[in-house]
Amino acid sequence: MLSGATVMVSLRPFNGVSPCPSKHPLVHRNRQTALRGTIYMSAQTQAVPSRTQRIMESISVSGEVGGAGGAYSYNALKRLDGIWSSICSTQTDKCDVVVCGGTLGIFIATALIAKGLKVCIVERNILKGREQEWNISRKELMELVEAGILDEDDIEEVTAMSFNPNRCGFENKGEIWVEDILNLGVSPVKLIEIVKKRFVSFGGVIFEGCSVSSISIYEDAAILQLAEGNILSSRLIIDAMGNFSPVVKQIRGGRKPDGVCLVVGSCARGFKENSTSDVIYSSSSVKKVGNAEVQYFWEAFPAGSGPLDRTTYMFTYVNPQPTSPKLEELLEDYWDLMPKYQGVSMDSLEILRVIYGIFPTYRDR
Ligand SMILES: Cc1cc2nc3c(=O)[nH]c(=O)nc-3n(C[C@H](O)[C@H](O)[C@H](O)COP(=O)(O)OP(=O)(O)OC[C@H]3O[C@@H](n4cnc5c(N)ncnc54)[C@H](O)[C@@H]3O)c2cc1C
Repeated sequence: MLSGATVMVSLRPFNGVSPCPSKHPLVHRNRQTALRGTIYMSAQTQAVPSRTQRIMESISVSGEVGGAGGAYSYNALKRLDGIWSSICSTQTDKCDVVVCGGTLGIFIATALIAKGLKVCIVERNILKGREQEWNISRKELMELVEAGILDEDDIEEVTAMSFNPNRCGFENKGEIWVEDILNLGVSPVKLIEIVKKRFVSFGGVIFEGCSVSSISIYEDAAILQLAEGNILSSRLIIDAMGNFSPVVKQIRGGRKPDGVCLVVGSCARGFKENSTSDVIYSSSSVKKVGNAEVQYFWEAFPAGSGPLDRTTYMFTYVNPQPTSPKLEELLEDYWDLMPKYQGVSMDSLEILRVIYGIFPTYRDR
C-alpha cells in the first residue's frame, strides 16, 4: 500500500493575490540563476554601446548605496532593467492546487490535473522514485488507472516482480496463506517517471529543487513562499511532504509521537527459496534490546533485480523513549536473526542494499 501523511488546507475560490508563474518552463530549478544568466548574456552580446552606456561609463561613480536611486553605474541600470523585465513578464495565472512534496504527491497532483484543475508541485529534491521496490496489490494499482493516473499497460511496465502465495503468521498461532495481497513489487523509478511525464503533458508545473519555506493563509488564497524566492498562490494546498512534513510538525505543535514503527532490513542476493512472500510474520515473543522491550515482525518478498534477490524487513513498534533501541542496534540484531528466519547463512548472501526508516504515529486527540 502506498502510504503518506496528507493534510489539506482548503480555501474558497478567490480573485487572486500573487502570481503563480505557470507559463514558465515546466520543470523549474532555480529561476534566479536563470535570470542572472539572461541579463549577463544581453550585456555581452550588445555589439555597439548605446549612447546611455557611453555617457554612463564615461562618468566615474563611487559610493553607490543600496536604497532606491542610490546606484549610478551602467551595470546597476542594467540590473534594475532586468528586475523590471521580470516584473513585466510575470504571469498572473493562479494555481487551483499546489501539492507540496512530490514522491506520492505526483499521484494526487496527476489525478487532479486530469480533472481540469491547474496544479503545481513543489519538490525539494529531484522528483524521482527510489531504487528499492514498493510492494502493492494489483487492486490498488487499478485504482490509479481508474483515477486517470496510469494506463493499464503501464502496470506491466512498472511491475518488476509478482509473487504468490503470501503468508501472515504469529508465534504459536499458526499461519494463514493468502493470494494477491501486496504481491507485486513495482519500480518507484519507472512508476514516478511515467506519472511525471503524464502530469507535465497535462500542463502541470513542477518546481524541482525548491523547498516550501512558509504558507500564509488568507481569506481568498493561500500564499506559498519557496526558500528559493518564488511565491505561489493557490486555492488549495496539499501537504504530501511525508513523515517529517513541517506542516504536520506545526499542526502537532512539535509534539512527540505517541508511537514509532522502526524498520531495518536489506535487499540481498543468494536466496534459493524465493517464490513466496511474508506480508507479516512474527516468530518470537517480546525480547530485550538494551533497556527496551521489543517484539519483532518480519516482511519478506522477492526483489526484481534477480531470481536470488530477496528483500527482508524487520520492524517493531515502540514508545519513543531515551532508552528506545537505535536503528543500528536493531540492525545488529537483524544480521543474527534474519538468516535464521529465512533458513540461510550470512556467508551465502551478498548484501545489495541496507534499508531503514522510522514511521511516527499519533493518536487523534
Ligand atoms: C524501509 C522502508 C520500506 C518501505 N516500503 C514500502 C513499500 O514496500 N510499500 C509502500 O507503499 N511504502 C513503503 N514504505 C513507505 C514509504 O515511505 C512510502 O511508500 C512513500 O515513500 C511515502 O511517500 P510520501 O510522499 O508520503 O513521503 P516521502 O517518501 O517521505 O516523500 C516526501 C517528499 O516530500 C519532499 N519534501 C519534504 N519536505 C519538503 C519541503 N519543505 N519542500 C518541498 N518538498 C519537501 C521530499 O523531498 C519527498 O520527495 C517504506 C518506507 C521505508 C522507510
